[in-house]
Amino acid sequence: MKLVSALHNKEIFRIVSRSAKKIQQDCYVVGGYVRDFLLGKNDSKDLDILTIGEGILLAKEVSKYIKPSPRINIFKRFGTAMLEYNNQKIEFVGSRKESYCSHSRHPVIEFGSLQDDQNRRDFTINALAISLNENNYGELIDPFGGLLDLKRKILKTPLNSDITYSDDPLRMMRAIRFATQLQFFIEESSFLSIQKNKNRINIVSIERIIDEFNKILLSKNPSIGLFLLYKSGLLSIILPELTLLQGIEEKNGYKHKDNFYHTLQVVDNISKETNSIWLRWAALLHDIGKSYTKKFLPKIGWSFHSHEFVGSKMVTNIFKRLKLPKGIPLKYVKKMIQHSYRPIALIEKNTRDSAIRRLLFDMGEDIGDLIKLCIADITTNNLEKKKQYKKNFCLLMKRIKQLEEKDRIKNWKSPISGNDIMKAFHIHPCKEIGIIKNFIKESILEGKISNEFHSAYFMMLKKGEDLGLKKNN
Ligand code: ATP
Ligand code: MG
Repeated sequence: MKLVSALHNKEIFRIVSRSAKKIQQDCYVVGGYVRDFLLGKNDSKDLDILTIGEGILLAKEVSKYIKPSPRINIFKRFGTAMLEYNNQKIEFVGSRKESYCSHSRHPVIEFGSLQDDQNRRDFTINALAISLNENNYGELIDPFGGLLDLKRKILKTPLNSDITYSDDPLRMMRAIRFATQLQFFIEESSFLSIQKNKNRINIVSIERIIDEFNKILLSKNPSIGLFLLYKSGLLSIILPELTLLQGIEEKNGYKHKDNFYHTLQVVDNISKETNSIWLRWAALLHDIGKSYTKKFLPKIGWSFHSHEFVGSKMVTNIFKRLKLPKGIPLKYVKKMIQHSYRPIALIEKNTRDSAIRRLLFDMGEDIGDLIKLCIADITTNNLEKKKQYKKNFCLLMKRIKQLEEKDRIKNWKSPISGNDIMKAFHIHPCKEIGIIKNFIKESILEGKISNEFHSAYFMMLKKGEDLGLKKNN
């Protein structure tokens, strides 16, 4: 099969081809670019060039034909080089043959043929190569039937799947990631090998695991991958807090929902509304406190009282264990989970403005995300109810917006500063200043005064007097 016409259109392929000929090294386009190109996706950013020889040498030769001359990043230890051309990352790698030992996913590497290099690739659909050599330019070299697997939407390892996954267990995560992103099936025997080799994941660094996990979470329907992770047994190793949510219990005719499948639905729902990885993490973890707070109350039924507080606390350890960022993302996810149940208590028509102001004050700019999470949390199959619940949250959001326009609580800053207070009463820093500031804040949130200087100043004088302070005349 020749793909000449498509390749001829791209100048870079002609440059690489000419350069390779000059240094007498054969070369091929390989990896994700070929796969995505055959799938009709033209937005592939990375381009992997394989050469039968030295990758760094080819990169240097290619750079001579590009104006202005690009910077080449050389990775000597791996024998690879990378340069950017027209906003595309182009990686040059020499063909290799790999052999593994049991304690590491990093193989011993030797020089190899094209066939050796294709043998070491993870899936048949990733083992396709397109020749850039003069004698067969544009020819697809497909030793494992990858093209057919692309058409059949199947993920299959080129060689024995048990050995492939055991050699480099990260491939198990990659299998599930590709199955999610491409919506492909993992061949049955391959999936059995993943189940068999699941514990081998422990030799992979957590950063690499999370890299793949986040790609699953960022895909269109993360539930595909989350379910496969669960079924393979990998999820109970990576994120046991989630698998604990699985199951329905029934007692005296009371049943609770399966919180694991509910969570998968919530993650899919939120993914329709946002590409933010941290809002998706918040959706993923929003119910994790439930397995630790579950109680059966006779005549009332199942209770998960304060699971949002317990869940929010659990996030710190989970983020630490998974080496997820400690700063703003951790605070954000904790905050989302902790407050996830507040909006539902505010949807009643007779809810006081002060309760809404308090939520606005605590959530700040993240209030919109919280409402999105609440809407995603609606997973009832009853369409009428679903519509009604959604409408309730939309009405609440409208009310929040109106109140915010009037009172500006989201990024609230006291209209009276500590300096104002010190000047007014001619005092030095002392605890009374904090008391007065808090009193002003409470008065504004309660709606006793409006959020502006004059009313706040008046309130300050009154509270100062109560505290026995004397006004500075
Ligand atoms: P994408 O870039 O969309 O994530 P990709 O297939 O290009 O997908 P990369 O991680 O960029 O994935 O890897 C490029 C190619 O290198 C893959 O297509 C595959 O042939 C090979 N590869 C990458 N990681 C592995 C691995 N762990 N085991 C075997 N082959 C791998
Ligand atoms: Mg790639």
